[in-house]
Amino acid sequence: MTPKQILKVVKKYTTERCVEAMRDGRFATAINCIDGRVQVPVLEWIRFYLNVDYVDLITEPGPDKAIVSGSERTYNSIFEKAILSVKNLGSQSISIVAHYDCRANPVSKEEHIELIQSSVEIIEKWRFGVRILGLWVNEWRYVEVIKDTEKEYQRQDRIW
Ligand SMILES: [Zn+2]
Repeated sequence: MTPKQILKVVKKYTTERCVEAMRDGRFATAINCIDGRVQVPVLEWIRFYLNVDYVDLITEPGPDKAIVSGSERTYNSIFEKAILSVKNLGSQSISIVAHYDCRANPVSKEEHIELIQSSVEIIEKWRFGVRILGLWVNEWRYVEVIKDTEKEYQRQDRIW
């Protein structure tokens, strides 16, 4: 997408309803696999650890692969939904999730971790100004944090 196209989408979804939605509670966004096994663990983890009331779900088979090397159509669809969630519902974070035994993206854990890291870097370039997390759901359906931009910034602060 060109910057002009991005701006057009942002304008389309940015309304006063953003403020209204924030009154309803705190929102987070999760880009997760369609796989039913990973919905509840991710929802519960995000609600607890990010201290939010609601999680906006964007589901896509093998979302780490979809963001890094998926079709333009799929990528744009995820991007537009993320804008809707951040701008219209006031979400403060975006989590990109990959999981063990993903049938849509059957690669090794190491490859998933690399894809998660690349996905976080791509999402950072969207410049939504929100916290971005890369999460891995392991074989016991526990959520592991692979990357957390807020923690990185904190670490940088400590160095100075
Ligand atoms: Zn999957």
